[in-house]
Amino acid sequence: MPFELTILGSSSAIPTSERYPTAQVLNVLGRFFLIDCGEGTQIQIRRQKIAFGKIKHIFISHLHGDHFYGLIGLISTFNLLGLKNDIHIYSPSQLKDVIQTQLDFLKGEMQFKVIFHPLNFKKPQLIFEDKKVEVISFPLKHSINCCGFLFREKPKEANIKKECIEQYQIPVAQIRAIKQGADFLTTEGEVVPNTKLTTPPPPPRSYAFCSDTAFYPQVVETIQGVNLLYHEATFTEELRDWAERTYHSTALDAAKTAQMAHAGKLIIGHFSTRYKEVEPFLEEAQTVFSNTEVAIDGKTYSVKK
Ligand SMILES: [Zn+2]
Repeated sequence: MPFELTILGSSSAIPTSERYPTAQVLNVLGRFFLIDCGEGTQIQIRRQKIAFGKIKHIFISHLHGDHFYGLIGLISTFNLLGLKNDIHIYSPSQLKDVIQTQLDFLKGEMQFKVIFHPLNFKKPQLIFEDKKVEVISFPLKHSINCCGFLFREKPKEANIKKECIEQYQIPVAQIRAIKQGADFLTTEGEVVPNTKLTTPPPPPRSYAFCSDTAFYPQVVETIQGVNLLYHEATFTEELRDWAERTYHSTALDAAKTAQMAHAGKLIIGHFSTRYKEVEPFLEEAQTVFSNTEVAIDGKTYSVKK
């Protein structure tokens, strides 16, 4: 079952000819979550051949333009295409006023609602869940209120061994309970322990998005053990002064966070346009965390255990 991240934009404040501003699509078991929505996001979604109708949940980390200026264009397109799914937006509360003013100018009746869910900037919070997936927002340390997001699968049920169903004549009605950990009592009164009947489920996978932030070790508790971490790296250590002044991270900061969180893999992005090359970012991060990759627009990364 898919759990994969597609980078739509990995530039910082200003788009370049190679990089769009921040936007990503995360496919978790067929649920398509849009994370941030910089200018041009809808073009990138089209390029990736992701159906617009699959996007029902949008997560906006903060209200700097490079993270949400693509939103009204995307919603307008949803409207023009006659889509009917309601759109849920998880964002700072002020976004509702900004977008609503623009929505009032859309011609034609919208056949869907835009529902806003305000983020909490004081502590981590569960903001979305269904049967298989949950999303937790967590505060970051930026020049304005900003949140990161943790997406993770819920623990799966154990697998029951087919041969055991036949051997012990297990009725269908009891299979669910056994998958959830119950032992089985045979008609002869023998207790068959659960461990004999099942194999453990695959471990749940997780992805964390650390949007714009200064180095902020407090996030480590929330994202501990994450399989894939995206962390902004706007600067290298050479411009540490700039990073501190603007509440951004260096590649080294991103790598330290990945190391402390025992992340499986790190992707860095949100590169300042002051840099012509991205190699210095990669080299700097890899001095601390070797399993680092540089974000590339249009590339898909699978989230693995
Ligand atoms: Zn920002």
